[in-house]
Amino acid sequence: MRTITRILTATTAAMALSGTVLATATPASAANRDGVCDTGEFCYYFNSNNQGSVSDFTGSVADYSTTQPTCYDFKGPGEGKGKCIKNAAASAWNRSSKKVRVYFNTGNTGTYQDFAPGAKANLNASLKNQNASHEFNPSSTTRTNMSFSLYAAAGSITCGFDGYTSTQGRHEGIDIARGIGSDVHNLVAGTITNVQFGSTGRAGLSTIAVYNAAANKTVIYLHSAPRSSLRVGQSVSRGQIIADESWHGVSSSSSAHTHVEMRPGRQTRASKSVGDSTLDNPNPTSFWNSQGYNVR
Ligand SMILES: [Zn+2]
Repeated sequence: MRTITRILTATTAAMALSGTVLATATPASAANRDGVCDTGEFCYYFNSNNQGSVSDFTGSVADYSTTQPTCYDFKGPGEGKGKCIKNAAASAWNRSSKKVRVYFNTGNTGTYQDFAPGAKANLNASLKNQNASHEFNPSSTTRTNMSFSLYAAAGSITCGFDGYTSTQGRHEGIDIARGIGSDVHNLVAGTITNVQFGSTGRAGLSTIAVYNAAANKTVIYLHSAPRSSLRVGQSVSRGQIIADESWHGVSSSSSAHTHVEMRPGRQTRASKSVGDSTLDNPNPTSFWNSQGYNVR
């Protein structure tokens, strides 16, 4: 693989934040990108039936770029040599020991075709001359990042679970920020067990508690400005807008964020974090994963 610096598009920048753009480790048996399909590599061919020029890879690439001299191109002898590979491959050979997934879109998204280790085949009708990224060892389930899903736009985790281990209190949720006024979307469907509207400033803590009976878990949102229509007993769907990002119960507007906390069972309030050394909640990662979210 070569290392070249590229300007990330908005999409790939978001993917880079999630870590999925990173190439996988190079197998010891694989050569550099030399236009020969070696053991350990995944290779595209310009023509069907593994004919024409070869482009060989030892890891994932989420964005091939589309112009020379910076694009990933066909390097082997034969038809297509020197052409950029995006939307130009007709067949592939997976000589690596991992499954490789070819995607229609940049950033490992869209329609895809899997190549098992050893598979040698034409790209199907959806992907032929429509390949835009590929991923070694793709996860069997596609998850979205909770920092994105909370706002349906790019957000960032500012403090993770138990992030305050060096302070007296222990942080029992995950803090996610985007900007004051951003729509806050419900992450897990359920029934509202508590809504406290609060107000801006340290003394005005707000709370929205949503109980999901199937998982027997409650997800609690703090510090946002709940939508005025919210009521105890109301059902809220996944993705429904429930609040706006704010600083209810936060001393400074510059620290606005949404605290998202998973609690076992049916709850109405967040666990005590500030000035409390007892950790009440289990690590929530497996729960968030089971709900289709990456904790990032
Ligand atoms: Zn928090």
